[in-house]
Amino acid sequence: MLVKDYCKAVMACNNEEEEVIKQGLMIKRSQNKKRFSPVNYKSRWFVLTRKHLIYYDTEGEKRKEKGRISLKSIKFVEIATLQDLSADSSVVQTGLPLQIGYVESGQDYVLYVLTNENQERDDWINALRSLCAHNDVNNTFHNGVWNGKRWSCCRASTRNSAGCTNTTTWPATTAPQETVSNPVTTPTMPGGTPSAKVKEPMTRPKIVIALYPFKAIEGGDLSLEKGAEYEVIDDAQEHWWKVKDSTGTVGYIPSNYVKEKELIGLQKYEWYVGDMSRQRAESLLKQEEKEGCFVVRNSSTKGLYTLSLYTKVPHPHVKHYHIKQNGRNGDFYLSEKHTCPSIPDLINYHRHNSGGLASRLKASPCDRPAPPTAGLSHDKWEIDPAELLLMEELGSGQFGVVRRGKWRGCIDTAVKMMKEGTMSEDDFIEEAKVMTKLQHSNLVQLYGVCSKHRPIYIVTEYMKHGSLLNYLRRHENTLGGNVDLLLDMCIQVCKGMAYLERHNYIHRDLAARNCLVGSENVVKVADFGLARYVLDDQYTSSGGTKFPIKWAPPEVLNYTRFSSKSDVWAYGVLMWEVFTCGKMPYGRLKNTEVVERVQRGIILQRPQACLKEVYEIMKLCWAHCPEDRPSFRALKEQLSIVGQSITD
Ligand code: AMP
Repeated sequence: MLVKDYCKAVMACNNEEEEVIKQGLMIKRSQNKKRFSPVNYKSRWFVLTRKHLIYYDTEGEKRKEKGRISLKSIKFVEIATLQDLSADSSVVQTGLPLQIGYVESGQDYVLYVLTNENQERDDWINALRSLCAHNDVNNTFHNGVWNGKRWSCCRASTRNSAGCTNTTTWPATTAPQETVSNPVTTPTMPGGTPSAKVKEPMTRPKIVIALYPFKAIEGGDLSLEKGAEYEVIDDAQEHWWKVKDSTGTVGYIPSNYVKEKELIGLQKYEWYVGDMSRQRAESLLKQEEKEGCFVVRNSSTKGLYTLSLYTKVPHPHVKHYHIKQNGRNGDFYLSEKHTCPSIPDLINYHRHNSGGLASRLKASPCDRPAPPTAGLSHDKWEIDPAELLLMEELGSGQFGVVRRGKWRGCIDTAVKMMKEGTMSEDDFIEEAKVMTKLQHSNLVQLYGVCSKHRPIYIVTEYMKHGSLLNYLRRHENTLGGNVDLLLDMCIQVCKGMAYLERHNYIHRDLAARNCLVGSENVVKVADFGLARYVLDDQYTSSGGTKFPIKWAPPEVLNYTRFSSKSDVWAYGVLMWEVFTCGKMPYGRLKNTEVVERVQRGIILQRPQACLKEVYEIMKLCWAHCPEDRPSFRALKEQLSIVGQSITD
């Protein structure tokens, strides 16, 4: 695919914010936005993400997107009364309608959909309202439909007349305590209330389920038991929420360890690993070496899933199966003969019957490791060195020695012991408070600092395979030919950088030496923003011997002008390092020669292992003007499209 085509595809493809929260088959009523034609009802596959409600054509194997609504534009979500059912099939007549009011280009629209079951309708309403909790919502709505002349509910004869029914109280993110014992009554429906009563969903408190266990160590924190439910008391802070457990004990927990009950979907299952790439799923399963060991992961096509299964027959390898869906009723299957109404049912079926798979499904890999928390406890970034057990040396760099550490005997850390005089410490210590709050699965988590004694320590997440540069060099033989794995590493770095970009945070020294590798080829960006606090002129001035010239774009070389776009240039060089398995960019050229080349627009050559499409993306990063370089967000999309074309 050509680079310009990737750009067009950007809107259509997967990213983290597009994590699938809920999906399912519903009947959609036509909207007749542009001209008036007979109303029709079609079966559509709906996918709810954090940003959009998207619906797809259900014919054939590949889903075709038919439309999407931005969640930001939603003004109400209510049950509806449809009175135009006579001409339609029995599914429509027995279906349970709900309506979603939204604004598009300043115009009000209503999307009517029908579910088969009451519970399903409640679930859609709850999920949509939860995700739109902060929307500016309408006070009223029409619970009937516009028939071209009037509203069926109140007979009003202008399409945009004010609604005749009060909307249900919109959810507060955390519902006030009183509402639990004093539920708001279900609104009455003029024009006939539908037979099914919708529970008043949003007056309930926010309930979350623990995805991982958490051990409270610091006073004020609360331990989490995997799978247990907790009521959220205060979610005002992004990373640490105050919750109540079933015994009434209240305390802080890391918000990335729980998921809202209504939005949990497949995440409650051991075998579901979410956005894990094909390559990482393979290394995870190969490590286990157990026949029938499997995971279900998000496919590179949004809303679809892939089963990855380890088998020893005829030789040890991992097979990947797309979980397909029947366009007629939405049933899932791996082999057409055995269809099931849900993915968990399908997994259960294949636990007992191989049904065409290389093996019956047996175990999933042991518990996935819990992710790092933003700081070691709520509001904690100052760490007592007496609580850190220092272990072996992991390496040494610009700032001094790095050692492995254990905090309070249980949390693995890396401890950077900052050589005195190498950094402006007071400024950094202030900044560290902000940095602990940056949290992403492709960023090395800063846990905190020990700043009360000298040398100061920077305490971060421990990454067992050390720097990406050394990892690439050490494993050149196995990694060299594995283009999809190399691409996956680049995508991971890009995701971490896209997060920094979103938070207006500039790295300033992105390179393979400043990324780290953990288990199953997880790659994370480290040392973001640290360059600002280095005191050494040789490192900070573009004429200095330690300045990362080979990763610097023209505007940095000329005017020391750093931006997310200068990070993008460096990222292109990092991609080059990855695809050469850790070669030095520009070989033995001296810095002055490199500067001269960059100024003349001469760029690094395509590494042998690098596909043309990937090299095209590198070249985009090396556009002379920063404005012409893509954002990390756009790069991420483009890379995943290439990834998809390799692995599908
Ligand atoms: P640096 O000072 O960041 O360049 O780190 C020097 C070396 O220490 C790196 O090349 C790694 O091998 C090792 N190292 C640094 N941070 C970590 C970490 N978080 N986990 C494991 N190893 C690390």
